[in-house]
Amino acid sequence: MLEQTSGASERSIFNKMRLHSAAFKGLTAFLLFLFLILGGCSDAGTDRPLAKDGILDLREYPLGNHIGLDGEWHFVWRDTSRLKLSHDVSPIGIDVPDSWNGYSFEGYELPGQGAGSYYLTLLLPELPVNYAIEFATAGTAYNLFVNENLVGSTGIYSTDSAMASPSYEPRIFDLGLHANQLRLRIDVSNYHHRLGGLWESITFGATKGIYDHREKQIGFSLFMFGTIFIMGIYHLGVFSKSTRGKAALYFGIFCLIIGLRNLTTGDLFLLQLWPSIPWQILVKIEYLTFYTGIPIFLLFIRLQFPDEIDKRISRVTVGISTFFIFLVLFTGVETFSASLPYFQPFSLLVMIYVMYGLVLAFIRGEEGSSLVLIGFVTVVITFINDMLFVSNVIQTGHLISFGLLIFIMTQAFLISIRFSKAYDTIDSQIIKLERTNTAYQSELESRKSAEFEVMQHKEHLEELVEDRTTELQIANERLKELSRVDGLTGIANRRRLDEELEREWKRMLRDKHPLSVIMCDIDHFKLYNDSYGHQQGDDCLTRVAKAIQDSVNRPGDLASRYGGEEFCIVLPETSSAGAVKIAELVRKNVNALKLEHSTSPVAKMVTLSLGVATVIPEQGSQPSVLLEAADRALYQAKGNGRNRVEQNSTE
Ligand code: GH3
Ligand code: MG
Ligand code: MG
Repeated sequence: MLEQTSGASERSIFNKMRLHSAAFKGLTAFLLFLFLILGGCSDAGTDRPLAKDGILDLREYPLGNHIGLDGEWHFVWRDTSRLKLSHDVSPIGIDVPDSWNGYSFEGYELPGQGAGSYYLTLLLPELPVNYAIEFATAGTAYNLFVNENLVGSTGIYSTDSAMASPSYEPRIFDLGLHANQLRLRIDVSNYHHRLGGLWESITFGATKGIYDHREKQIGFSLFMFGTIFIMGIYHLGVFSKSTRGKAALYFGIFCLIIGLRNLTTGDLFLLQLWPSIPWQILVKIEYLTFYTGIPIFLLFIRLQFPDEIDKRISRVTVGISTFFIFLVLFTGVETFSASLPYFQPFSLLVMIYVMYGLVLAFIRGEEGSSLVLIGFVTVVITFINDMLFVSNVIQTGHLISFGLLIFIMTQAFLISIRFSKAYDTIDSQIIKLERTNTAYQSELESRKSAEFEVMQHKEHLEELVEDRTTELQIANERLKELSRVDGLTGIANRRRLDEELEREWKRMLRDKHPLSVIMCDIDHFKLYNDSYGHQQGDDCLTRVAKAIQDSVNRPGDLASRYGGEEFCIVLPETSSAGAVKIAELVRKNVNALKLEHSTSPVAKMVTLSLGVATVIPEQGSQPSVLLEAADRALYQAKGNGRNRVEQNSTE
């Protein structure tokens, strides 16, 4: 188990190493390839005539085309503030384009700041051609003389540092008609920049060719600026908080930086837009675009390939660049321009690292890495081309602008592809979501209707239970009532009698009021049954019961069947006199029924004997006492001849 894990990690380290070494190999192969291509071009340089010992022979050169007046010029140092010169100094050879810094003049190593004269004799073909001369930037002010006549100047040339004033304005000077020979003298002074002299190529040719060249340059420069600027604005607009949006942000900023740099280098179109821009500001913009462009570029690449570009390296790059940026912002040109020789190799290292990261990403098959690599390689190739062109190794011309344009195009294309992919994903997600939503909705609806049904069932069940409960309650009440009613006569039965007697007993005990009972017994009922049959006996019982019932009408009074042909009446709050009256009434009412009883020895109709008992209940005594007393009174009534009322009062 342990062996397996360590084996796996070893394998992954091995894979990583293999990838890295593959990236290195790719990088080396690419550099070798570049070297071979550019090495092959190096011979092309011999076609262009170069100045030698202060003379440039253009007699065999087709001057309809323009040509850079490059090569070895003559030079004389003019600044006598530190170097005392005798009158007849001999000129030295000096390269153009190049700064004069470091050249040795009369054993004196030239500093960047000072003044000097450049000399070049042009040998021209015998042709009636109007010539013109075009200056890009020079460091940093000059006067142009042709055959010792002042033709024009840029900035203010002076050997006095207080008088001199710098300018980067690109200029074209018409030289008029010349044949055979033309002597150029350019007095250059510099007290503002680290470097002095003619550091950019001076272009010479037929007037028309020079203007055409200038127009093409401006046209191309405007095209570049417009394209890059619009792209920058667009990608800034696309910026959002997502990582891909952030890549668009960095890319947008990078575009604006390149666009701005395009305005401040080459033909300096910014000077056309804003002629009064101070020279210092112009130089600051030029440096700032370089110093900010490098870290922004690295951040942009890192956002796209975070696994290939190390976070620490990008942080260090941003830190170092920030230091340089502050230097440009807060110091003068003569100070910060000295930082360029340090920033250039640093930026080269960063670019090599970016190349390494991109090759690695390409080998790993990271999405979009091929496009980024193609764009970047184009920039590198054009950059190297320009270096070789400036060093006069090849004659291809400046191509870095093309390279940058192609790079920016590929990036814009990549970013747009990514965005459209993102939109596609969003679209398909939306469709998926809508489908799920619909499914959920119908599910929800069916659940709702099911729930509604359940609710209805529940309500119905509740109603049913309620109904059944009420019915049961009613039935119960009814049963309860039935259980306390005599089945034959329909009046209260013995059970009811016991309950009521108990309750009234307690009530009267509390109130200390009299409670009476009347016991009634039909006389000679056995004989009645014998004479008329059991059935008619039952009818008789029923009619007697009704007569007894009808004789009592106070709410608390109760008439009940005591058993057989005996009845008992309970009379609460009734004295013995009142009870005797009720008993008499009962007896009369039964007589009044005139139920025939032919075998009765008492009368020829059904009669009752009644015993009355009354008591004010006392603590400790029982209702049965009262019943027994009434029974005794009844027994007396039987003994005394029947069909009468007797009382047994314990009051
Ligand atoms: P006395 O005047 O002394 O009361 O004589 P009696 O015959 O009424 O008395 P006894 O207690 O000897 O007889 C009661 C009779 O009542 C006996 C029975 O035949 C009759 N009887 C009791 N209950 C019923 C009944 O529910 N229906 C009918 N038809 N007769 C009953
Ligand atoms: Mg009896
Ligand atoms: Mg009887």
